[in-house]
Amino acid sequence: RSSDLIVKEAAMKLLEINHCNKKFGDNEVLKDISLSVEEGQVVSIIGPSGSGKSTLLRCATLLETMDGGDLIYLGEYTAKADETGKSVYGTKAELQKARQHFGLVFQNFNLFPHYSVLKNITEPPILIGKRPKDEVYAEARELLKKMGLADKEDAYPYQLSGGQQQRVSIARALAMKPKILFFDEPTSALDPELTGEILHVIKELAAEHMTMVIVTHEMSFARDVSDHIIFMDGGVIVEEGEPKELINNPKQERTKAFLSRFQA
Ligand code: ADP
Ligand code: MG
Repeated sequence: RSSDLIVKEAAMKLLEINHCNKKFGDNEVLKDISLSVEEGQVVSIIGPSGSGKSTLLRCATLLETMDGGDLIYLGEYTAKADETGKSVYGTKAELQKARQHFGLVFQNFNLFPHYSVLKNITEPPILIGKRPKDEVYAEARELLKKMGLADKEDAYPYQLSGGQQQRVSIARALAMKPKILFFDEPTSALDPELTGEILHVIKELAAEHMTMVIVTHEMSFARDVSDHIIFMDGGVIVEEGEPKELINNPKQERTKAFLSRFQA
């Protein structure tokens, strides 16, 4: 249909990673990984423990440096491979600019324990974003309302459940108005009933067309929420594609073996 075509053509690549390589000592953790994420897309990354999923997110979010390959945000190179393939990173200012494009939600929430909920959310936009306090506080309270935590702004992280803490950390990431949000196993530290509330929040963000890259072990969630799924094993992308097709009808033996462990 023509309207779909127009939307597709107008979609912009927010993130592009080309031929990423990463070693820790002799351990080749990422081998020639390429992916791209368009505006509004939800991309899930699945795979066994140790396959390199977190390292890939850490390279994308500048917490690790790639040895080889390109990292491109909104068409601008954050790192660019030289003629030998080695990644050459931009200036400090260029990296700082790239950091404004994304947010990151960790498995273990990473909230400041000695800050209230409200301060956890408002500190980054005020200190790093240099935005006016009144505006930041008003937005933070809106975000807390959206996360179902309107009454928790004065609480400290230890007074909250894991699910509540994770919702605060999602609010904290959103307060920086990122173009793309990364999640690294956002529910792995949570009990099943708290997992559901986080998956619900992420589904709502997807419905609002938030661009997201999600590392998860929640297969049915990944199938339902994603536009694209990547299966990694041993530092390579073994298989990727349309979610229902990949989850229900995997082509590669390694994908089949991995998914068979998740059948109910
Ligand atoms: P996943 O998130 O898929 O479980 P990781 O990216 O955490 O996988 O790890 C991939 C591999 O990289 C593992 O062999 C792990 O031991 C290794 N690794 C990860 N981080 C480091 C590090 N900082 N130093 C050395 N080895 C690391
Ligand atoms: Mg990991």
